[in-house]
Amino acid sequence: MSNKTVLRVENLRIVYGNVEQPAVQDVSFKVKAGECVAIIGESGSGKSTLLRAIACLQSCDEGKILVDDQLLPDPMQLLVKGYAGIRYVSQDTVLPRLRTVEDMLRYELRYFHAEEQTLLVDQYLDIFSLQEFRDRKDTELSGGQKQRVALSLALASDAGLLVLDEPFNQIDVITREKVKEQLFSYFRSSGKTLIMVTHDALDALPWSDKIVVLRDGHLLQVGTPEKVYEKPVDMYVASLFGPVQLLSKKQLNDLLHIEWPNRCRYAGIRYNDVEHQLSKTKNAIQVKWIRSYYAGKQYKWLLQDATGGEWMVYAANKEPSNKMIYLHFPLSQIFFFK
Ligand code: ADP
Ligand code: MG
Repeated sequence: MSNKTVLRVENLRIVYGNVEQPAVQDVSFKVKAGECVAIIGESGSGKSTLLRAIACLQSCDEGKILVDDQLLPDPMQLLVKGYAGIRYVSQDTVLPRLRTVEDMLRYELRYFHAEEQTLLVDQYLDIFSLQEFRDRKDTELSGGQKQRVALSLALASDAGLLVLDEPFNQIDVITREKVKEQLFSYFRSSGKTLIMVTHDALDALPWSDKIVVLRDGHLLQVGTPEKVYEKPVDMYVASLFGPVQLLSKKQLNDLLHIEWPNRCRYAGIRYNDVEHQLSKTKNAIQVKWIRSYYAGKQYKWLLQDATGGEWMVYAANKEPSNKMIYLHFPLSQIFFFK
């Protein structure tokens, strides 16, 4: 990764027609060459709108976008929307019509000599497990297969900046992990820069260099995956990465013997950080098992503490052998938010 900034988004504001609430407002961030940036947020938070603006497909009402220090033109002023060097893959995959997968790839690789082109076509078909579909046309592919083709075309294209909207949403769970692994490891050696939208924040953690969090069109936080996961700016950001157990003032005072910090409105701990055991240890919170829920490989236990507060933990067994359980977690893992 170099230090060169390829993309600069400055004070962006986008309002749709007669909708009062802006879809994107006051959003600014930078992307460096070679970076993988994930844009996350709940549905309707403005992720796709922001991505379309970056891909020069959506006009902005205020602010600007610079790509390689060049101001992105207003797409409304262009004969053909989009910008050279930026490849956008939409949430609903659209492929070139009436061409086979192999032909689509050959078109992206048209500037290579025939021999090299053939080698590269095979390489991209392998990366996305598409060999058996090389002679199929877009109408002969499933949603997930189309999405894999679209990703292979984007990687094979000569665009330096890839802008992908929920790139794995139609790929089945079994293939998805493999495709992700392949895409990101190949991306790292490609020299390209990647911006992707995902509604699954956990998706973003292992692969991205930077995470941009949106809510209601506002930018809430920008930072490394470690920063955004470990030091979320508020409960919304914390909750994007898995359930958070809210803690009341009474729970904090009576059970953990901690003073409620000044001006703090919320306290919470990630389910993931709470461990349970059947024997009492120092600083453990005693809770009573109420009921269990089946959650796939494990069970979720609903528990209740002495203040009446409810807890949820994951456990291997359907029910505990003893109804009294002890919870513990590092106090440093408690989030406090204003
Ligand atoms: P996300 O991708 O995060 O789900 P979007 O960018 O699609 O969010 O949408 C952001 C907001 O803008 C939402 O409130 C959505 O309803 C609204 N919106 C999206 N597209 C349009 C449109 N074409 N016209 C009016 N409102 C829209
Ligand atoms: Mg979207």
